[in-house]
Amino acid sequence: MHHLALIADNRDAELNTSVNTRSYHVSHLCHNSRCFNPGHLVVESAHHNHRRKTCTGHKVILYGDFEYHPCEHGEVEKMRRCILPVLRLGPGRHVNGSEVIYLMDAFGWRW
Ligand SMILES: [Zn+2]
Ligand SMILES: [Zn+2]
Repeated sequence: MHHLALIADNRDAELNTSVNTRSYHVSHLCHNSRCFNPGHLVVESAHHNHRRKTCTGHKVILYGDFEYHPCEHGEVEKMRRCILPVLRLGPGRHVNGSEVIYLMDAFGWRW
């Protein structure tokens, strides 16, 4: 199903790489296995695909000019970053318990 989505997007060259090499996977940048948006699919090594799992459940945090993106793919391998929900914080914005944990991660704060 995902392969069809890539063919529809004229990315069959990218797909051939995955077909001819066992170690290549079609990754979901948005972590939604039922999503068929070709813009959310990328062919990459199994290693990179597995690394994306660490981003599942995380959020991009916007706070003023500060942006925290938990996905390391964009910086380390110059690859497509995961597509994650955005948590936009402003002055006086109250955060819930799980959001506090995201903030701790983002700013490197420790308990
Ligand atoms: Zn998607
Ligand atoms: Zn990621």
